[in-house]
Amino acid sequence: MNEQKNNLQSRKRPSWIVVLLVLFLLTFALNFVQSIRNSTSQLQISYDQFLDLVEAEAVEMVYMDDTQIQISLKKELGIDEVAKILGAEEVPEGIQDFQNSPQKNVTFYTGRIDDPDIVSVLRDHDITFAQEIPEQTSIFSAIASWIIPFILMYLVYFLFIRMIMNRMGSDTNGILGGMTGGIGKSKAKVYSVEKSTGITFKDVAGQDEAKESLEEMVDYLKNPEKYRKIGAKQPKGALLVGSPGTGKTLLAKAVAGEAGVPFYHLTGSEFVEMFVGVGASRVRDLFQTAKKNTPCIIFIDELDAIGKKRDTGLGSNDEREQTLNQLLAEMDGFEANGGIIVLAATNRPEVLDQALLRPGRFDRRIVVDKPDLMGRESILKVHGAKVSLSSDVDFHEIALATSGASGADLANIVNEAALLAVRMGRQFVIQADLMEAVETVFAGKEKKDRILNPKERRIVAYHEVGHALVSALQKNAQPVQKITIVPRTMGALGYTMSVPEEERYLLTNDELTAQLTSLLGGKAAEIVQFGTSTTGAANDIERATELARKMVTQYGMSRRFGSMGLASTQNQYLDGRNVPTCSDQTGAEADEEIRKLIEECQNRAIQLLNENRSALDNIAARLLEKETISGEEFMELMVCHTDDIPSEI
Ligand code: ADP
Repeated sequence: MNEQKNNLQSRKRPSWIVVLLVLFLLTFALNFVQSIRNSTSQLQISYDQFLDLVEAEAVEMVYMDDTQIQISLKKELGIDEVAKILGAEEVPEGIQDFQNSPQKNVTFYTGRIDDPDIVSVLRDHDITFAQEIPEQTSIFSAIASWIIPFILMYLVYFLFIRMIMNRMGSDTNGILGGMTGGIGKSKAKVYSVEKSTGITFKDVAGQDEAKESLEEMVDYLKNPEKYRKIGAKQPKGALLVGSPGTGKTLLAKAVAGEAGVPFYHLTGSEFVEMFVGVGASRVRDLFQTAKKNTPCIIFIDELDAIGKKRDTGLGSNDEREQTLNQLLAEMDGFEANGGIIVLAATNRPEVLDQALLRPGRFDRRIVVDKPDLMGRESILKVHGAKVSLSSDVDFHEIALATSGASGADLANIVNEAALLAVRMGRQFVIQADLMEAVETVFAGKEKKDRILNPKERRIVAYHEVGHALVSALQKNAQPVQKITIVPRTMGALGYTMSVPEEERYLLTNDELTAQLTSLLGGKAAEIVQFGTSTTGAANDIERATELARKMVTQYGMSRRFGSMGLASTQNQYLDGRNVPTCSDQTGAEADEEIRKLIEECQNRAIQLLNENRSALDNIAARLLEKETISGEEFMELMVCHTDDIPSEI
């Protein structure tokens, strides 16, 4: 895959550290040169020594201020002469410098005392004197002392701000943007470009309707003239809607791959930063780059991160709204036949701003939902083709056992099975590896090191057999595939796997009630055998309550409310949350109805198990002995120990 990360910013940006270092060295060098030019040693002498120097005609010039007198000696003087005038026994240290300095510009100084005759004395000896010490300013020192420190401070300040912004994963704008040569450029790596994705529609299985809708776009990208001639306009954008892992990104890549055009991929959340304006500038930059490389596909993942409905309430987010406005403007800004197609993906279409969905923007909505039985089988085949398979592999069976799985889950199952085959030292993946992988993906790996005490093992065994038996004793329930009490890493201490014989799209009231009763079978078995229930039933209770709530509030399956809807589903493609649409009072009544329904099913489960105690005890004993029993073995044991088997089973 030929993936190039967009790195415009880092290519253009000069290294500020180097610039700073150069300036710093320059300042240092200038000051150094200046200090050599003006190198002046200062030596303090007493006032009478000063007068001695004056008397000895050694002084050339004197500068006076209110507190001190600076004395420049005549240059022709020798070191010993000066020492002699000063009456020093040894040559003072400062005079050494006087001697060595090429300009001999050692300055002596002394404190100013109140001496009214000093001026006439200096005049008598023809010494030049001045009141103020003149500043030795030059163009160099002016630069060194004013301009360069100012520039340095300026740079350090902006460098500091920039560093903070970068650390926040942000870009900068405005003055700083101008300074750093990147006004409004995207943060590096905010989007990735693939010249050719290498993925085609063949790699996407089980999404035939979605592929059909996208094929036209591929054709347009390949032959834009055909459309232009007749005056047909292609939709500028299409919104891929579906649960996570259903292949939305894969489909978008396949469109680019089929058409052989570049693929710009970015994620909605990467646009939006803390700083207002950054996201908008990134959108602008992305579209500018894309326009230079037409035809191409822009793919925005998680569109809901920027495309949420705008509001003016307190909680509104300026940055997100500006980013969205910019996206809307950009989508309007390019020609329908300009060669850019914007694909976006979301799993929360209901939160998107209406403006995004109007014609001319994301006017096509393509549902990429969880695959059905045939879809799952073909996805398994696509991924199965990449591994070595034994001839016993039956993908239909795996597809039946993976109802509700997404394409990503199925890809994961095939990979887990291949890993398992390697671990077992096999050359090929066998059916058992795939079945084990299904369990690994949904329940976690086996956790053999978790040792349960004998009492807990018995509870788990009865609990699981309770589920299986209640399920098998009802005519509308799904057949049991496997029962196990080997703990799994995702927390299950045991589980019962039921696999439907065929894919079902509609479920009747009776079937849902049977499902509810089976879910409560585990707790019922604990009550029947041990007279109490344990925390192990928590997940069953949660699922049972959710199902009962849907039956009462959404499916119109309660006697009390009949066909009245009391709730709606939100986040259909995520958790499918049930949100009440009724009054609080009706809600409380619905709760009561749900409680009754659950209680009825619980009692029914207890009754079924009480009527089949011998089957419950015997199968639980076998499960404790073997840890895992298959569906067939379970049915054999059940037939042996039960008289009351529904004729349909
Ligand atoms: P989404 O964008 O919908 O969250 P992706 O497209 O990223 O999901 O899918 C993740 C992975 O799952 C893909 O790389 C692919 O391996 C697998 N996958 C998902 N759907 C399909 C499909 N329909 N056919 C083949 N593989 C799929």
